[in-house]
Amino acid sequence: MARHVMKRALRGKPSQWVTIWLFFLIAIGGLWYPWLGYLMLAMMLGIPALAYFRSRYWCGNLCPRGAFLDIVLYHFSPHRPYPKLFKKQSFRWAVFSFIMTIFAIRMTLAWGHWMAVGGLFVNMCVVTSMVAILLGVIFNQRAWCAICPMGTLQESLGKLGSGQTKAKKAAAKATKLLPPVE
Ligand code: SF4
Repeated sequence: MARHVMKRALRGKPSQWVTIWLFFLIAIGGLWYPWLGYLMLAMMLGIPALAYFRSRYWCGNLCPRGAFLDIVLYHFSPHRPYPKLFKKQSFRWAVFSFIMTIFAIRMTLAWGHWMAVGGLFVNMCVVTSMVAILLGVIFNQRAWCAICPMGTLQESLGKLGSGQTKAKKAAAKATKLLPPVE
């Protein structure tokens, strides 16, 4: 019984317990100190490179919000399946385009006011996290991750990366099968 309770309380991977504090730092600390939003920018720049080689490794192991969803929101979620619509590529890319368009417009307006730009990243983190929490308490704790723009991007880059690796392996194999040049 005690072990069962411990298991429920101690959810999440060790790496998630390390990164979860970044979620609180940006989403809460950023409200008072908008420069913290640049931490989010650093993550957004690093994620694509990692995704090319490891697809959604970030999501399952390192994402601070993913850690919050797994460790905290899990306990408040009814664990229902999320709508099938969330699995549709067209819907996921529509969400991606919508959020990125709003972000680009606001970034254009804030450009040059660097603290405001930091605040914009904080704002984006807070608003999307509120949507994530809402979806989490209606469906399951990771429902947001099905439509998160960064998740969609990582998945596509991961496919591109694995496609390139397969193509390289196939090319190397084909080269080995070629008869030696006279
Ligand atoms: S899908 Fe988005 S919120 Fe979820 S773990 Fe990945 S990057 Fe984080």
